[in-house]
Amino acid sequence: MSATVDTAQLPAMLTQLRLPTIARLWPAITQTADRESWPATKTLAALFEHEIAERAQRRTARHLLEAGLPVGKTIDRFDFTAIPSVSKARVMALAEGDAWLAKGTNILLFGPPGVGKSHLGAALGHAMVDAGYRVLFTRTTDLVQHLQAARQDLKLATAIEKLDKYHLLVLDDLSYVQKSQAETSVIFELISARYERRSLLITANQPFGAWDTIFPDPAMTVAAIDRLVHHSIILEMNTDSYRRKSAETKRPGK
Ligand code: ADP
Ligand code: MG
Repeated sequence: MSATVDTAQLPAMLTQLRLPTIARLWPAITQTADRESWPATKTLAALFEHEIAERAQRRTARHLLEAGLPVGKTIDRFDFTAIPSVSKARVMALAEGDAWLAKGTNILLFGPPGVGKSHLGAALGHAMVDAGYRVLFTRTTDLVQHLQAARQDLKLATAIEKLDKYHLLVLDDLSYVQKSQAETSVIFELISARYERRSLLITANQPFGAWDTIFPDPAMTVAAIDRLVHHSIILEMNTDSYRRKSAETKRPGK
């Protein structure tokens, strides 16, 4: 085969091999390589490095899209001075390390409305997506509905298994789930299934004491809390509402 024939076939071969980055960059890179007399191995390595780097970027972009994280609620936009009860160093360590995720450790964020629970939960989610993990951020009530529908179709186990692909599941506002509304034992099934394997991050207005409004019976409440806290990091966010504070500072005369 002559060199011209090879060149003509390159785009098709790269498409077949699913190497879009090399398909885009090979003309420029090989030109540089020819001009600067690179050894063949250097040229190959340069092409592959680009493909690998862009592949990681594409994966992260996909993971960010599927995660459903609230936009802009990142750690660098979180003002730690507003919440003295939470150690910035501790949260930064969670955002920058993934040991907790690898062990299936849970994170529980407690506090009244407006103190930044959802923001901080989302921020840790964003950090884990950036680190290459898969995350799903969901309102707990939405997930309960989804799992109840699956249970009605006798597909609860499959639905819970499908959530396994997410290294981190952020359940926002657990305490908005009320057992009176429907069957909430699906949440218990989910907690049990992920226990010691896959992390949950839960935000709740109510501390454990009030959780018997969530689960169908006291025994299940105790069992759920037991599994959640066994390997967990609990952050108590007890401060004034950030929403209220920022509204007050915007008020004229303040
Ligand atoms: P919660 O979930 O506890 O009710 P949110 O996380 O929804 O509270 O916070 C309410 C609003 O205030 C959001 O817009 C959030 O981004 C912002 N907010 C709360 N705490 C902080 C903080 N410490 N730094 C920056 N923004 C914050
Ligand atoms: Mg919230």
